[in-house]
Amino acid sequence: MRTALVTGITGMDGTYLAQLLLSKNYKVFGTFRRASTPNFWRIMSLGLEDKISLVPMDLTDSNSIINALRISQPTEVYNMAASSYVADSFECPLANLDITGSAVMRLLDAIHTIDPHIKFYQSSSSEMYGNNGAPPMNEESPMNPISPYGVAKLSAHHIVNMYRKAYSIHAVSGICFNHEAPLRGLDFVTRKISNAVAKIKLGLCDNLTLGNLDAIRDWGWAPEYVNGIYLMMQQDEPDDYVLATNYGASVREFAIEAMSRAGIDEKVLKQDKRYRRPIDIDKLTGDYTKAYSVLDWEPEYNYFDVAKMMVDADLQRWKDWQDGKMFPWDAYLYPNEAKVLRRCK
Ligand code: GDP
Repeated sequence: MRTALVTGITGMDGTYLAQLLLSKNYKVFGTFRRASTPNFWRIMSLGLEDKISLVPMDLTDSNSIINALRISQPTEVYNMAASSYVADSFECPLANLDITGSAVMRLLDAIHTIDPHIKFYQSSSSEMYGNNGAPPMNEESPMNPISPYGVAKLSAHHIVNMYRKAYSIHAVSGICFNHEAPLRGLDFVTRKISNAVAKIKLGLCDNLTLGNLDAIRDWGWAPEYVNGIYLMMQQDEPDDYVLATNYGASVREFAIEAMSRAGIDEKVLKQDKRYRRPIDIDKLTGDYTKAYSVLDWEPEYNYFDVAKMMVDADLQRWKDWQDGKMFPWDAYLYPNEAKVLRRCK
């Protein structure tokens, strides 16, 4: 039986990946960091809690990584863990560099020590490209990150390449462009939009306030991306692959699509500079030609499908909540974002 160890299993990608691997008869272990408030709502919302095994691990602690490898004895490790919110990486840049960047060296070094035949997947990110002025980006495009998160991801990307070449470890990088779904965290703009639009529709709030409306992103459907990740790991040779939709839309366009799905007036859309970052990437669009030709991977959903599916999911959740139903969910506990003071432009 194939065995996977998934770091970041409590996050969006980790949860969808665990579901996919279970459907392929993997034994799935997932690492988690102890927190005073449990964070298993995604795993529970897909009903995975009794199907996976959880192992405590902290990416800043090499011993805990070695223990997790010894306990799970994986054939494949998927590193889906990171401190993944770009805006917060400007607040805690060094912690981000450690968790998102250096931890990948800890993981690969532990694999090299314990069993170099373990395959390794690294979640690289389109944020590594920065404002390189040449979208759409492929695996060969120049990378000039402009956020602490992007810098950390690029260092991890190089680390993967180094372990691949120096020690012949089967280490794969998936350069994933933005990918979204109802399990997305509320910090990210798509979920912030779908959640606010649902609340406005039900009379629970009266505006959707965002920062930079002109940023263009390439938004795909996360469950399709974890399938691409799985396919990358099944290849004989480790390599880098871009996963994207090849299509860009602005934050404004995504918000308009979401509002139109719920049938609410665009007048609710407001801007506040508090939600702007010190620096932002203007346009990020990808080119998935290589994934298509090597992996036969092709996304079915575009940003407008994603916006509709996310609005529908959040509307249903808020309706269920109004009806007094109990279910694993994050939004009703989320603090008022306006009270969080971040460095802004
Ligand atoms: P990212 O591409 O990984 O940083 O994903 P995000 O969903 O956090 O942000 C996508 C884009 O939306 C970025 O260009 C943000 O500056 C922009 N954006 C505009 N308003 C907001 C907002 O209120 N929250 C967030 N998270 N992003 C916003």
